[in-house]
Amino acid sequence: MIAHPNRLPGERLDPIASGAFVVFHLVPILAVFTGIGWHDWQILLVTYWVRMFFITGGYHRYFAHKSYKTSRVFQFILAFGGTTATQKGPLWWAGHHRLHHRYTDTVQDAHSPIKGVMFSHIGWIITPHTDETPTDAIADFNKYPELRFINRRDFIGPWALALGCLWWGGWSGLLVGYFLSTVILWHSTFLVNSMAHLWGTRRFATEDSSRNNPLIAFLTMGEGWHNNHHHIQSSCRQGFRWWEFDMTFYVLKFLSLFHIVWDIKKPNAKALATARIADGAYDIGMFQFHWDKATTRVAAATQRSDLTDARVAFSMAADEALAAAQELGRQSRRPAVPVEGQDEAAAARAVPAME
Ligand SMILES: [Zn+2]
Ligand SMILES: [Zn+2]
Repeated sequence: MIAHPNRLPGERLDPIASGAFVVFHLVPILAVFTGIGWHDWQILLVTYWVRMFFITGGYHRYFAHKSYKTSRVFQFILAFGGTTATQKGPLWWAGHHRLHHRYTDTVQDAHSPIKGVMFSHIGWIITPHTDETPTDAIADFNKYPELRFINRRDFIGPWALALGCLWWGGWSGLLVGYFLSTVILWHSTFLVNSMAHLWGTRRFATEDSSRNNPLIAFLTMGEGWHNNHHHIQSSCRQGFRWWEFDMTFYVLKFLSLFHIVWDIKKPNAKALATARIADGAYDIGMFQFHWDKATTRVAAATQRSDLTDARVAFSMAADEALAAAQELGRQSRRPAVPVEGQDEAAAARAVPAME
């Protein structure tokens, strides 16, 4: 079988991990023996939304992006709560996410859709390539022994929650409140990696394929404003307009009233006025996206017929054209109003609902 041209050597499905993943998806079917009551759906709603917050507010906006500050105790609560989502440990998750931002839509990006849609959605998690925690990328949190402990023993949270659901709702509580809830939680989270780079609109000409998508934003408490997020990664708030609902941000704002979290970062006015497609910024991200699709097809075709020379010549020409397009992008993505002091006014006009 010909390997996908954009995948690295270790990026093949691990049979044991894939098997376990498939079995996990099938477990909720056992509910045909227990029946499902309204109580079970209530447990599911709680375990879905609370764990989604731990992923978006904890793993993503705190550990990966440090977009607000908190105490060491609450930091540990975020870490432990995140593990109950059964998406591995906080250092593993946040470390790989930082690499996603560093290498977005290149072959080094573990879950770019340029490696295939299903691969970006699920495949990348069950490959030997992403098995380890990338400690270099997350050294600032790796120094805490309690985080290293919970990252290594990331099974404690899921088991504790599963037993809690069994105690709370019996066997059907376990099947629906833990297993079914986890499957839905997984796929909602994974949509950010796959569909939020394929389906939706683009406000900013970022150097990647990120999109804003209200459905994904609803399912993931605000993470669907992914183009906004790729443009201003340091901002805790990801919905930039009043109608871009961002539940994670609202919850964090609420927690800040009690000083549980503080120093919540908002997007700065200058960045909001920069690289706006509406202002005519050249959309290098979309250019690269389509470019990559075309080169991948050429690579696959030449691989089949072994036209090695043609492939090398094509890729050299392609690199030059891409460099020219990137230069054009760099020139056009400067702030709309580059004059010092006028940026704030321009941004206020551009995004009237910002606080
Ligand atoms: Zn991010
Ligand atoms: Zn992304």
